[in-house]
Amino acid sequence: MDGSDRGTLFVISAQSGTGKSTLARRLLESVPGLVFSVSHTTRPRRAGEQSGREYHFVDDAVFDAMVAEGGFLEWARVFDHKYGTGLAATESVLAKGADMLLDIDVSGAGQVRAKGLDAVSIFILPPDYASLTERLTRRGSEDPSALALRLREARREALEYDRFDYVVVNAELKEAVSELSAIVRAESARTARRRNRVTQILSTFPAPGTGA
Ligand code: ADP
Ligand code: 5GP
Repeated sequence: MDGSDRGTLFVISAQSGTGKSTLARRLLESVPGLVFSVSHTTRPRRAGEQSGREYHFVDDAVFDAMVAEGGFLEWARVFDHKYGTGLAATESVLAKGADMLLDIDVSGAGQVRAKGLDAVSIFILPPDYASLTERLTRRGSEDPSALALRLREARREALEYDRFDYVVVNAELKEAVSELSAIVRAESARTARRRNRVTQILSTFPAPGTGA
């Protein structure tokens, strides 16, 4: 970033079932001030999900109207449903200088990258295919055909890893959370993102020739 007061976008992507939502929740608990970007989606709500918390659940008409009026920073069709990051909500958080966490698919991550925004992208991988199958099955939120579709797409999506700034393997949950949080903290401390803070600190120093 250019030293302005704007926040940074942290984009995490992974194949469905890798544990991304679980990791995102833990990361938000461990990094104060990081704001989760609540996407809009046309997919039905799962048990335990709350509108406005995991997603804004909307119908096709509302989603398409938002697309038509340029209301999304990025959007994509993923597994038969549409998902998008609301532009206004993202803008208002970033403008206040807060960092945001986006949990979006690889195509959405590509769109964010193409916009040249201040973004850090992290790809999450399961330790192996068997763990992915096991986690997705255990979650039990998809019917067998939706589950098969997600697993069929898994290899193609994994091959996208090379377009991301970081790769985190979600083998042991605690370790993966700690790695993710280390990435977020280190990126936030980059010189370019600390310029305003440095300027503030320097403003407390006496001007040359006036100090002790
Ligand atoms: P995603 O958001 O990537 O689709 P979820 O966060 O819903 O995935 O996780 C899928 C399942 O895997 C959940 O039952 C979750 O508790 C489990 N899970 C997540 N991370 C791990 C891990 N490191 N080890 C074992 N199980 C995990
Ligand atoms: P799920 O239905 O399991 O919650 O999410 C399915 C996929 O959609 C996940 O890969 C998730 O990251 C992605 N996704 C969620 N929100 C968005 C979004 O706003 N934009 C894009 N491009 N993908 C999203």
